[in-house]
Amino acid sequence: MRFQLLPDGFNKNGIASPQHLSCFVIDDFLAIDAGSLGMAASDLQKKQIRNVILTHAHLDHIAGLPLFIDDLFVNLEKPFAVHATEKVIDILQKNIFNWEIYPRFSELKNEFGEVLKYFPFDIGKEFSIGEFSITAIEVNHKVQSVGFIISKGKSKIAFSGDTAETSEFWEIVNVQKFLSAVFIECALPNQLWNLAEASHHLTPKKLAGELKKLKNSRCPVYVINLKPMYRKQIKQEIEELAITNVRILEVGKVYEF
Ligand SMILES: [Zn+2]
Repeated sequence: MRFQLLPDGFNKNGIASPQHLSCFVIDDFLAIDAGSLGMAASDLQKKQIRNVILTHAHLDHIAGLPLFIDDLFVNLEKPFAVHATEKVIDILQKNIFNWEIYPRFSELKNEFGEVLKYFPFDIGKEFSIGEFSITAIEVNHKVQSVGFIISKGKSKIAFSGDTAETSEFWEIVNVQKFLSAVFIECALPNQLWNLAEASHHLTPKKLAGELKKLKNSRCPVYVINLKPMYRKQIKQEIEELAITNVRILEVGKVYEF
């Protein structure tokens, strides 16, 4: 499984920073969230990605979705598939694809037919996309939000999405026989613990508490969704935790699991 956090975009020296948006691409085929999908997908990814699984509908996770479909509109030979909970699909239809903010693509057709289709998934019930098996797990965010267990062949990852302290995610992670990697958020630095509580995010201190719930202490853990204004500070605070299997996921780098 090849796993990549897409950058927000590219400048003349390569990857543009800071990283505001959340979009992860697996095998240049499947996207988790679509924050920068319309801005940073490669030509191959534009050609191959026809499915996105959404954790929740916050702007930094969906901003690139309308733009991606817009770019591909005439070339989509089959509808682009948005997999999300019913609640998230309702939010998208009501607030984004409502003709006022952006066209309601689910009502439009190109010469091949429909361009956007919604596929609601149930939390806790496994579903497949191509060779991937996916199960959504409810996490603890300000709005309904899910993480995922995603497997393909011998690779299996756990992905938290945005969350504060959670028990269900770790319970499900801990019953997996094997995990290639765990991805967990840490959005804010320790000094903003009160904002983290109000907005249901983690700080490095809270992250340390969460990682105590992970039974397999050798499983690689990658930290994601750092707020760009505090990236350096969060990174330093996580390094100070000195937990050997924990590292920050680098923007743009392709990882193999
Ligand atoms: Zn969020």
